[in-house]
Amino acid sequence: MNAFQTLSAALTNTPTRLVAVSKTRSIAEIMALYQQGQRLFGENKVQELLEKQPQLPSDIEWHLIGHLQSNKVKYIAPFVSMIHSVDSVKLLFEINKEAAKNKRIIKVLIQIHIAQEETKFGADEKELIEILEYYTAANSTLTHVCIAGLMGMATNTDDEHLTAQEFQKLSNLFQSVKKTYLLNKADFTEISMGMSSDYQIAMAAGSTLVRIGSLLFAG
Ligand SMILES: *Cc1c(COP(=O)(O)O)cnc(C)c1O
Repeated sequence: MNAFQTLSAALTNTPTRLVAVSKTRSIAEIMALYQQGQRLFGENKVQELLEKQPQLPSDIEWHLIGHLQSNKVKYIAPFVSMIHSVDSVKLLFEINKEAAKNKRIIKVLIQIHIAQEETKFGADEKELIEILEYYTAANSTLTHVCIAGLMGMATNTDDEHLTAQEFQKLSNLFQSVKKTYLLNKADFTEISMGMSSDYQIAMAAGSTLVRIGSLLFAG
């Protein structure tokens, strides 16, 4: 079995879907996975996504997984399936505006800062609550975005115990806001966590989307 088949087998009969992270990979490499049945791909840069998307089949579901600047939302709004990296009210309103122009509802995840590193992007709990209050307000104008869940990246470490703790923290936060802010929103279902080095730990903590690149394309 190749890496894709091994991973697909590991995800069969689980609640977890594979986001094939295709950043830096060629059109031919992406097509090789497509031909084996993969339809869900993730890119972390807007520019690279814009170059690849028109060259590839239109039934690919594209997820933007990396940091997104407000001024670039308009380029991906016509086709992107999900944006994993929303971490401010401002960005959410910008996505809503561009989605409306395209007569679409764009699914987004709120990226939460769970790692110890200072450098990673992401909202803290206070910012998450602020976003959810805008989203769930009775007079909310956020009608062209669907907050579908949370995303997080663990600390880059060999300490599996720390990784497990961080993923569990995200999972607990997901459950608690689902019960408080999102009771009436059936679409709040996704926890995007886990990459090549830690996807098994993430799955044990309840991941529904694993974002895997290097392991998948290694061979
Ligand atoms: C690159 C990337 C991944 C995949 O990382 P691998 O270690 O190659 O599996 C996942 N999430 C984000 C946000 C990335 O930029």
